[in-house]
Amino acid sequence: MHSFWNFESRWFCAAILRMKTALSVGSQESLMPAGSKLPVIKTPEGIPFIPGSSLKGVVRSYTERILRTMDRLGQTYWGERLWACDPLDERERCVIATCCERCEDCKGNCCPDCGRCKNCMVKRATHNNRFDDEKLTQEIWNYSCTACRLFGSPWIASRVSFQDAMLTNRDSLLRLVEVRDGVGIDRDLGSAKHRIKYDFETVPSGAEFGITVVVENAEEWEVGLLLLALEAMRKGELPVGGKTTRGPGWGELVDLRVQRIGQENLLDYLKGTGQPAKISPSEILHRLVTVLQGGSHA
Ligand SMILES: [Zn+2]
Ligand SMILES: [Zn+2]
Ligand SMILES: [Zn+2]
Repeated sequence: MHSFWNFESRWFCAAILRMKTALSVGSQESLMPAGSKLPVIKTPEGIPFIPGSSLKGVVRSYTERILRTMDRLGQTYWGERLWACDPLDERERCVIATCCERCEDCKGNCCPDCGRCKNCMVKRATHNNRFDDEKLTQEIWNYSCTACRLFGSPWIASRVSFQDAMLTNRDSLLRLVEVRDGVGIDRDLGSAKHRIKYDFETVPSGAEFGITVVVENAEEWEVGLLLLALEAMRKGELPVGGKTTRGPGWGELVDLRVQRIGQENLLDYLKGTGQPAKISPSEILHRLVTVLQGGSHA
C-alpha cells in the first residue's frame, strides 16, 4: 500500500493538446434558457482554457474502460487484479458507505457486502473504543479498485491531479471563440418537439493547450495506465469537452514528456539545483505491456 503521509515519488506528465476540430467546454445546456448563448470557460482575462477536472474525467473514464476489459480477460499485474468499479452507482462502488439494515449493529460479518462496507470497516477497526486509523486505511485500500486507488474515491485521496490546461498559442489564432448554432432538447418534457434553440461558443480548431498531470507516490505501471489514455489522446481517439458526438472536441497530443522525482533526487530538486529525471513514455508503456503479456499466461 502507498503511504499518503510520506513522499515516495512525484511524476509529471506534460504535453500539448492540439485541437483538430473546435472545442466546446464547460456549460450545462439543460439549464440554459431558450435563445441564450452558451459560453466556453474563460479565465478572468477572457482566454479559454480546459478545466483540469474535465481532462481528469475523460482520462479516468477511458482508464476505467481499459481496466474493465483487462479484468474480463483475467489480466493481472504480477498477480494483482486490474479492475474498475462503477463510481457513478452507489451500490456498484468497490467500497460502499453502508451495506444492509444490520450494518449499524455489525459484529464484523453482517451480510455478503459487509467486507466492502466502509461503515463496517470502521467497526472492525475499533476495539475497546480504540480506533485504529491505519487498519481502516489498509482495509479501504484492499477493497478499492485500481481506478479508485489512482483517481480517488470518497474514501481515498486522488493521487492524480490535472492542472487547468491553458491556451498556449493565442497569438496564432484569428479569434479565440466562434459561435455556432445549437439545438437542445427540453429535459423536462423529454421530447424532440420541444427543442430549445441556442447558440454556443467553441474554441476554434488549431487551438493548443498545455496539459500537465502530476501523479503522487505512484508505481511506474500506474503511470503507464495513465499513459495508455494519453496515448489514445495522442492518436486523436479520445475527445475532450462537450458535444463530441457532433464534432467538437477532437485533437491530438504532441510533445509528451514524463519526468520523475524520487527520494534519490528529492533534495537536489527541493534545493533548486536538480532536475527531475526524464523517462521515456514509450519505455514506460513498453515495460507495462511486457508484464501484462507475460502475466496473461500465469
Ligand atoms: Zn455495513
Ligand atoms: Zn457488517
Ligand atoms: Zn472503485
